[in-house]
Amino acid sequence: MTPRFEGRVAVVTGAASGIGHEIARRFLDEGGAVVAGDLDPGGVPDGALGVGVDVSDPAQVDALVAACIAEHGRIDILCNNAGVGGVTDVLGCTVEEWDRIFSVNVRGVFLGTRAALPHMLAAGHGVIVNTASVAASVGLPDRAAYCASKGAVVAFTRQVAVQYADRGIRCNCVSPGTVDSPWVGRLLDQADDPAATRAALVARQPLGRLGTPGEVADLVAYLASDQASFVTGADWLIDGGIAAR
Ligand code: NAD
Repeated sequence: MTPRFEGRVAVVTGAASGIGHEIARRFLDEGGAVVAGDLDPGGVPDGALGVGVDVSDPAQVDALVAACIAEHGRIDILCNNAGVGGVTDVLGCTVEEWDRIFSVNVRGVFLGTRAALPHMLAAGHGVIVNTASVAASVGLPDRAAYCASKGAVVAFTRQVAVQYADRGIRCNCVSPGTVDSPWVGRLLDQADDPAATRAALVARQPLGRLGTPGEVADLVAYLASDQASFVTGADWLIDGGIAAR
């Protein structure tokens, strides 16, 4: 069987860690080429071209896509995955925190899409997969800016899907529940009682465990592949059942 991503070129942001690292790994393992953008390009998977990028900076995001075109002459897949969190409610959230979260989680998705689309439209095909969160669908305590930012990612995903569907572009997002990535490790490090905090994260997911970055990467790979050729504009929950509760 031909590997699903043979001949395909993917740009993945936030690819030095966690979910993005696994997404990049999937594309590489299944025959694709990957340009992996991150604040820390040294951490991207072996075999990917690592590019230092802050996804909130328009010039740096344009340069990331330009590096992909310079190296491979095309971009077939874009995964806007880089994201940051914050642990505050509305009253505790400063304007600076709100803007920091939105500049990465929302502006970063817009900038990546804006940079990649002209190349995809010229080629007549392209696939975009954004990493949103179950936080877009349920109100999580102490995640005011984060929930709002991921809601914006879902809405933007739908708009892009509808706008460009007739020009060969598909755009979907994935919405994980709590996934055992370094992100959660940092969250637990900051907690007063890490074991109790971890137990609470597990307990809120009906399947009774955290997800794995690999499980999310499997879904992203499906959406980026031709198997999902009739799928666009959708928010794909992969949350252990949180949103169903
Ligand atoms: P992670 O912290 O392990 O990895 C995030 C990566 O993004 C890091 O390598 C970091 O350097 C990079 N990054 C952060 N800001 C950046 C910026 N401005 N420019 C470029 N790169 C930047 O986190 P993760 O768990 O793999 O999260 C990846 C995505 O999944 C995020 O969008 C996050 O919101 C989303 N998500 C995570 C979970 C979870 O429980 N881990 C749940 C739902 C959604």
